[in-house]
Amino acid sequence: MAALVGMTGCAEVGDAGASATARTRVPAPAAASSAPGSSTPAAPSSATASSPSATPSSLPVSPAPGEGPTPSPSGPPPFSAKIEKVSRDDVRHSWRPGCPVPLSGLRKITMTYWGFDDQAHTGTLVINKKVAEDVASVFGKLYEMRYPIRRMEPVDVYKGSDYDSIDADNTSAFNCRNATGSGSWSNHAYGLAVDLNPRENPYVYANGSHAHRNADAFVDRPLKKPGVINSGDRVVRAFAQIGWGWGGSWSGAKDYQHFSENGR
Ligand SMILES: [Zn+2]
Repeated sequence: MAALVGMTGCAEVGDAGASATARTRVPAPAAASSAPGSSTPAAPSSATASSPSATPSSLPVSPAPGEGPTPSPSGPPPFSAKIEKVSRDDVRHSWRPGCPVPLSGLRKITMTYWGFDDQAHTGTLVINKKVAEDVASVFGKLYEMRYPIRRMEPVDVYKGSDYDSIDADNTSAFNCRNATGSGSWSNHAYGLAVDLNPRENPYVYANGSHAHRNADAFVDRPLKKPGVINSGDRVVRAFAQIGWGWGGSWSGAKDYQHFSENGR
């Protein structure tokens, strides 16, 4: 079975009227708003600051001259998220009659995310409709904090294979499957759980083993690496704000990639 995967969905973002506001609304990572104690060394400073860029006229926050990321007029777009109904074709492999959520209970969120390449991308997440807005708001926060995400595709791209999706470091939510090592439905089967950067945040069994060779360097915690989720960090707090729990706080097996509505 050829491992398709292919395109990372790096297409341009600017639909949903995003481009229209791109000039006035310069997203300022951290600082700008009230977020206390979230000092962020990782600013999107990929700008090769060789050209003395034209200073945008009215910025809400003006960085010290000659220092820090100078937002260019063509800088990252603001976060956008579009929530739509899911068709049978959207979930051909990941949904079937008998799943614990009807098709009408699912939504797909097409939204902006920040990549490991320090660029904005557009991804799609399939999720339960009752949490779609909340979860989109969390991803908006992750984008503002420039938390990098490898890719974001429905598991249908992997023909519903959780293993292949994880191996591709794919961030996803809905998948009508059993919980790992269990005979009962996973929260993913309800669309009430998200797996975030599964390579950087592996599922670690109680005996310390893990299933994906490409995650060897990401098993220990705490761990300071891009995309890695640590106890109590900004990512965990962002999900906690909508009441979602983190699998990294479980006793026994740790599911560092996993966030869910009921904490399981
Ligand atoms: Zn999960």
